[in-house]
Amino acid sequence: MPYVADTIAKLKRTGPAEIEYYQAVEEVLMSLRPLLDKDAKYKKHNIIDRIVEPERQIMFRVAWIDDKGQVQVNKGYRIEFNSALGPYKGGIRLHPSVYAGIIKFLGFEQIFKNALTGLAIGGAKGGSDFDPKGKSDNEIMRFCQSFMNELYRHIGPTTDIPAGDIGVGAREIGYMFGQYKRLTGRYDGVFTGKKINWGGSLARKEATGYGAVYFAQNMLAAIGQTLEGKTCVVSGAGNVAIYTVEKLQQVGATPVTVSDSRGMIHHPQGINLATLKQLKEVEGASLSEYAQRHPEARYTAAADYPAGRNPIWSVRCDAAFPSATQNELNEADAVALLKNGCSCISEGANMPSTQGAIDKFLAAGISYGPGKAANAGGVATSQLEMAQNASMQQWTFEEVDSRLHAIMNNIYQTVSSTAAEFGQAGNLVLGANIAGFRKVADAMIDQGVV
Ligand code: GLU
Repeated sequence: MPYVADTIAKLKRTGPAEIEYYQAVEEVLMSLRPLLDKDAKYKKHNIIDRIVEPERQIMFRVAWIDDKGQVQVNKGYRIEFNSALGPYKGGIRLHPSVYAGIIKFLGFEQIFKNALTGLAIGGAKGGSDFDPKGKSDNEIMRFCQSFMNELYRHIGPTTDIPAGDIGVGAREIGYMFGQYKRLTGRYDGVFTGKKINWGGSLARKEATGYGAVYFAQNMLAAIGQTLEGKTCVVSGAGNVAIYTVEKLQQVGATPVTVSDSRGMIHHPQGINLATLKQLKEVEGASLSEYAQRHPEARYTAAADYPAGRNPIWSVRCDAAFPSATQNELNEADAVALLKNGCSCISEGANMPSTQGAIDKFLAAGISYGPGKAANAGGVATSQLEMAQNASMQQWTFEEVDSRLHAIMNNIYQTVSSTAAEFGQAGNLVLGANIAGFRKVADAMIDQGVV
């Protein structure tokens, strides 16, 4: 497809070495062929060239002082990618792997994900190569304050609303919000993922994981199945993974794995949710501790993983929920999952499957829910938090959860009916990319060349 190759070549020339970004763009563009062939207006308005170029990229120095009194310097990013559908919206990631290519891929995915929610939110992402691991609470606070000393001037409740992502939870949001408030003197709904007692939304913490399970239920219902009694594998041990495990248990499935950066747990009797929450939400401990408390569970250290593979994807299962990070599931993993009978994948993480893995899932015709559709429940609930803040209300957990559930059902309907409209029923990658793109592109055309 020449327009894909031409676009990627231009991106490589004008923004070198942004590997993950090219990957995300290629996946979306490959899906668009049937739409571009059907409707000439997208080509006429040169939407492809426009949509792959962020509206604004902010890169800044974050200098802070560690507990030893040493000056530390990190890179800070906020990429305001597209505001055709609403104010920029997307999380902040703090992880040593962060560089422009990661923030750009995440921001690009966010545009289409946010469009699929049906809510009025544009796409953005931010972050830093700061590593929160091993840092004291005071160091985290000083970093967040310094990060905000630059970012505050670019954000606002109707311009750009950051949230959490890897390495950023309610604690970090609190420090950033506090500094924003101090610098601006405003108590605005400028962040989502806040704590409940100062403006957060009930069910926001649970939303991404719950949403990924609701999405899987939709995919299974279409083929007359449910999650009840199914063995599931989950990767990760953060917010997304924990609440995926919780919802899976509530609907009668058995999640048997979780993982963190140091290793993975396989607990054939089912993950003990109380232990998982205690270790990750209270103690901040490694999963190796889990095996101490549950001797029937097996811990494998990451150092002992076979080269380039995560053993989670070789565990026999009916459904898989990749909920850790990008490119955590490769082609060989996909082959192993399929061989072991896995027939449903719902992605809680952003771009966890490589293109090779996606191709295997699509060729096998299994239920495959790509991240930009399956994990959209998090950002959708962020928008519900914005709505509560703007109207000075606080909804109940049940109210938020039932809206989340309806949004996930609606995303599934949109994505699957779009796939069918273009003669590829069941291809939810194509359905998600076309449905998300069409909504944003049409708005861009309506709003003129800006
Ligand atoms: N970081 C999350 C995502 O990838 C949530 C973003 C938000 O709530 O703004 O969608």
